[in-house]
Amino acid sequence: MKCTIVDTSSSPYAKLKPVPLSAVKLKDVFWAPRIKTLREVTLLVEYEHLEKTGRIENFRRVARGDKNIEWRIADDSDVYKWFEALAYTLAYEYDEKLGEIADSVAKDIVSAQDKDGYLFTYYAFNKEARWRDLTRMHELYCAGHFFQAAIAYYRATGSRLMLDAAVRLADHIASIFGPGKREGVPGHPEIEMALVELYRTTGSKKYLDLAKFFIDERGKGLVGGSVYLIDHKPFRELDEIVGHAVRSLYLNCGATDVYLETGETSLFETLLRLWYNMVEKRMYVTGGVGSRHEGEAFGEDYELPDTRAYCETCAAVANIMWNWRMLMATAEAKYTDILELALYNAALAGISLDGRYFFYVNPLADRGKHRREEWFGCACCPPNIARLLATVPGYFYSTSDKGVWVHLYAENTANIELENTSITINQYTKYPWEGEVELEVEPSKEKEFSIFVRIPGWCSEAEVFLNGKPLETKPVPGTYLEVHKTWRRGDRLKLYLDMPVVLVASHPWVLNHACRVAIKRGPIVYCFEQVDNRGFDVWDLIVPRDAKLEAFYTPELLGGVVVVKGRGYATDSSEWGNELYKGISEVKYSLKEVEFTAIPYYAWANREPGPMIVWVKCPLIS
Ligand SMILES: [Zn+2]
Repeated sequence: MKCTIVDTSSSPYAKLKPVPLSAVKLKDVFWAPRIKTLREVTLLVEYEHLEKTGRIENFRRVARGDKNIEWRIADDSDVYKWFEALAYTLAYEYDEKLGEIADSVAKDIVSAQDKDGYLFTYYAFNKEARWRDLTRMHELYCAGHFFQAAIAYYRATGSRLMLDAAVRLADHIASIFGPGKREGVPGHPEIEMALVELYRTTGSKKYLDLAKFFIDERGKGLVGGSVYLIDHKPFRELDEIVGHAVRSLYLNCGATDVYLETGETSLFETLLRLWYNMVEKRMYVTGGVGSRHEGEAFGEDYELPDTRAYCETCAAVANIMWNWRMLMATAEAKYTDILELALYNAALAGISLDGRYFFYVNPLADRGKHRREEWFGCACCPPNIARLLATVPGYFYSTSDKGVWVHLYAENTANIELENTSITINQYTKYPWEGEVELEVEPSKEKEFSIFVRIPGWCSEAEVFLNGKPLETKPVPGTYLEVHKTWRRGDRLKLYLDMPVVLVASHPWVLNHACRVAIKRGPIVYCFEQVDNRGFDVWDLIVPRDAKLEAFYTPELLGGVVVVKGRGYATDSSEWGNELYKGISEVKYSLKEVEFTAIPYYAWANREPGPMIVWVKCPLIS
């Protein structure tokens, strides 16, 4: 069984096909330790929380007729998402202990299914209430997560136990909703993409039709017509990305999945409009989205507050999931750029370095009060970041009719099947800390095909060498460079991706970023934490636009990171006094020269609490 995440291998409108998770073995300093922590710590810690909070026990309660179901919204889905992470982890590398946990929880889950296929623990004993409150209750949302968990388990282990239950539930839902049956849409989109994946797994077209039905019905006010639920206008008429960020992005994932199967142009045109609106006007420099606490929602154009950034971890995960699907549809590197940005920054900040603590909300500036937590009452984020980490190996490569696509860089070995030829690619690199990448290509027999290497959009200068000789085609940042030849064992492609430290400015209408800059190096966004910067408050830091910024790999710090050091200035805000406002004539600032250190944003809040900031002052107008 080939365990892929989004199986576009037979999707007629997919330009790219997936490479199974188990085909890629990460050996790098960045992802391999994180996947180890996921296996050895995070999945087990989350399992404990799911047991302790009664979320798994709820399924057992249903099975034995115990009506004391403990309910918090979407509880079942927390189990499913964690289970999906567990299944993908097993597919990557089987582990007996984790395998036993998965088998046992799979039985518990399935034991709670009703004879008619219904599965939602809260309404297990209340048939009358089922499917009555689509706006608020998360029955369809949980069903979607169940399908995804079931598919992952089937692909990882070959067991049909969960998949058969998923089919029963999907058939039950399809018997209620659809053309000529009940109208309705999920209050929280998610089931759309899961139904398409179920179609890909079973070949049963009614699941694809149902996914399309839920997208077609949206915007008719069936769940109240609010912008929050993206129910205010039909999907194909949306011209800006709005509403609850996770709902919005999951809906886009589903719509992209439907496009991948149907090729419907109006769907894709809508997705493009939403993507450009998000990337050009409503996304943080970290790839995080959802500017507002109110409604966990997208804000207006250029509304990107820092201390009050919501940037839910789940929204970053959803952003990655959507961009992956857009990449499959187009083979365009602009989607990989956003995927990579959100992966290394917005999403990764959601989990502590030790794999035990989680952020739900990810601000870009803080006074030291915001800390990761063990768990949440609404616990969507911890299992979501777990399943993202479990799927990371699946995001590195794809194939197409023309050859192999290399999306991400990290030291690994991949065994890729291309038209009955097995191609081994050994990647040697210290990415994301260094921009040199060497690909050693070993086809099982000589074969003519292309290798498409991604030249990241963040890279201003790149060079590519084939067996030591520079390529004639000049690499263009933000595209894939096609290298076509008859590949022989031992052929080597070498990429030099220039990775200087750069200062990034915002569009002038992001008012809170006026005269401020952020530091980036390669795919990594930096922040300043107080613990690394003594003698001044990091909120008072001024980085001159011509500051000499130097990068140093620091193996003993934060699991091994490149820090950025430089010299700048700091004001002393304690001189200001207690007034909130002053006449400008009274304002006097004395500047002192300081040395500063910035660390990767994802690694913040792993040491003593203190002020943190991404966007520091920089006199842009000279
Ligand atoms: Zn969440």
